[in-house]
This record gives sequence, structure tokens and C-alpha cells, in this order.
Amino acid sequence: MKTRTKLVHGGTRRSQYGEVSEALFLTQGFVYDSAEAAQARFIEAGPDEFIYARYGNPTVAMFEERIAALEGAEDAFATASGMAAVSGALTSMLRAGDHVVAARALFGSCLYVLEEVLTRFGVEVSFVDGTDPDQWRAAVRPGTKAVFFETVANPTLEVVDIAAVADIAHGVGATVVVDNVFATPVYSDAIAQGADVVVYSATKHIDGQGRCLGGVVLGRRDYIRKVLEPYLKHTGGALSPFNAWVMLKGLETIDLRVRAQAASAQVIAEALQGDARVRVIYPGLPEHPQHALALRQMGQGGTVLALDIRGGQEAAFRFLNALEIVLISNNLGDAKSIVTHPATTTHQRLAEARRAALGITPGLVRLSVGLEDADDLVADLRAALDAV
Ligand SMILES: *Cc1c(COP(=O)(O)O)cnc(C)c1O
Repeated sequence: MKTRTKLVHGGTRRSQYGEVSEALFLTQGFVYDSAEAAQARFIEAGPDEFIYARYGNPTVAMFEERIAALEGAEDAFATASGMAAVSGALTSMLRAGDHVVAARALFGSCLYVLEEVLTRFGVEVSFVDGTDPDQWRAAVRPGTKAVFFETVANPTLEVVDIAAVADIAHGVGATVVVDNVFATPVYSDAIAQGADVVVYSATKHIDGQGRCLGGVVLGRRDYIRKVLEPYLKHTGGALSPFNAWVMLKGLETIDLRVRAQAASAQVIAEALQGDARVRVIYPGLPEHPQHALALRQMGQGGTVLALDIRGGQEAAFRFLNALEIVLISNNLGDAKSIVTHPATTTHQRLAEARRAALGITPGLVRLSVGLEDADDLVADLRAALDAV
């Protein structure tokens, strides 16, 4: 089956009622026919046998199977949020004394997990410039258990070469964990490019309409079932069946939505490029330092762009406050276009020098492009620049 077909039919488990739309099994538990059946299921549950929603649920399983089919992964485990996926993927495979190498440009909460949580339990973490293969090569060593990066990075839109980093990591036997939120499952075949484990915040493009939190970890079956599942089912980061149902239905339309959002992002980037009041950062523009890599790896620039408004924070705030269609919020991948000022919100916790080193300047604004008409968005952005 091709991608769009898998997104509509993949993972469907039809009940005895023959429902067309996937059923929402909003239940925490399951009834056994006998005490012996309960005992047998705790020893080994079959593919259509469930015990407790923290371990698994038919609606959650449909979501896991559908996203695994899209990503080309052997298996998947759904989580309560993207951060439950990131922290579960890493914590489940690491122990004291292990070494991890990570790209420096990361989502604030990912940085917290690596810097503040893992290190507290005796994991050593080295940070590198993710776009420089020489730095990855210099940082990995025998005993490096995992490498972690986002591609594209939030919010600076650096593109990390998955195949090159995977080559370097596999050379020392390290597991490659990729947070693929910005590339989206539509544009990145991270597993085909060499990632061992792929993590998504389903809150973003998979829901795509800003309703629910969710996440998912994808990878080989032995890792998902023997390493990740025991950790997650006992530590409690399970996805609610209701949220899984929303995400499952979101997957039906993700290909159409993300392609439309990326096409509009390209239109906006080209329209604002060359405007002296703003520096446009978008992997789909030839001026982006990793433009060629972005095209090779994703075929497209993605649905998010960054605008560095000349005049610093004051100008950025005036720009945000003048927008009429684009909303000030902090989700991304939503049907509604959203702007975020990372320096004062998502990356506020970082010291100014560190923000500067990451390219998070006082004027930087992240724009997640929604499903509105691209001409309306360009007009709104231009009017806001006029107001600055
Ligand atoms: C949003 C996001 C997360 C966290 O996801 P939640 O669903 O909010 O927990 C992790 N990584 C990246 C790159 C994100 O954009």
C-alpha cells in the first residue's frame, strides 16, 4: 500500500459491529472469561488481548500500528505526550556510566531531560553543533550508548544529516534517537536514513488541530517490546484512548494537511525574503545553510519558519501584537498559524549567552504555518511588519 492508503486503513481493528470509523475503546480495563484466562493473559497476552490501559488498549494499538506503517518502523509505543516519548525512549535504554552525545539546538524540555535529568542519574552528556559531522565524530567514543538530535531543530531550523550522524554513531555501537517533530512523518523517512529510534510529539502535526497531547516512540520490535514497553508501562506515561482516537483520525488527513502547510510556508518565505525589515530562516530557501541537505533529506522545507525581526525584542513584540490572523501561542503543526517568541517563552529558562550561541536572538519569531489561505497570511505578516 502507498502512504495515503496506509494512513486511512492502516492498523484498523473492526469490532463485531462492523463500524466504519474506528471505535473509541474508552476503557481502562478488560473482563476475563475466567480466573484461568486472567492468569494466562498475564503470562502472555495475544495480539488482540489487553489487560490494562497503561499497558495497551485497542484504540491506542490502532494508532501505534498506523503510525508504524507510515514511518516504516517494525513497532511503536504511544505515550501521553511528546516529552513522555523523548524521556521514555532515552531513560529506558540508559544506565549510570553511559555516555550520550546530543545536538545543542534542542526544544527546551528535551534540553532539560538531557542536561538536568539524565545527568542526575550518572549519565554523561556531551553537546555538539549538530550540523557539523566533525564534532559528532570527535564526541562519540566506545561507551557512547546513544546520540540524540532534532531535525529540523526547534526553533532555529538547523538541519542535521541523519545518515551522516547515524554512520558515525553506529561506528561505536551507539543507538540513534531522532526527534522528528519538525520534519514530520510526511517528509522524513528517518528510519530509512539510519535512525534506530524515532520520536514524535503527536500533539503537533499528527493531531494537527491543537486538541490533544500525545507522543509515540518508533523502532525495532525488540527495543520497543523488551526495553521501552516494560519501562513505560510501569512508569505510567500511557496515552489516553480518547487522545489516541483523535491522533488516529488525525493520521487520515496528515499527508494532505502537512503538504498544504509546507507549500504555504514556502510561499511566505519567498514573499518575505528580501524584505529589509526581517531575516527569513527557512530550509526551503536556497539561502539556508543546509538547503541542499534539507531537500535531499525531506524534499521540502517543512511547515515552520523563523523570522528574525530587525530591532530586537521590542520590534518582535510589536510585530506579534499587530498580527490579526496569526495567533500568539506555542503549539506548532496546527491548522491555525501560530507565532512564538522563543527568547521570552519556550527558551526563557536559558541564560542569554546560551540563547545567543543557539541563534535565538531577541528578534527571533517562530512561525508555524497553518491551513489558512497563504495570500491572507502574507498580507497579515506584511501589515504587522509595517506596524513595527
Ligand atoms: C513539542 C515538542 C516536543 C514535546 O512534545 P509535547 O507533546 O509537548 O510533550 C518535543 N520535541 C519537539 C521538537 C517539539 O516540538
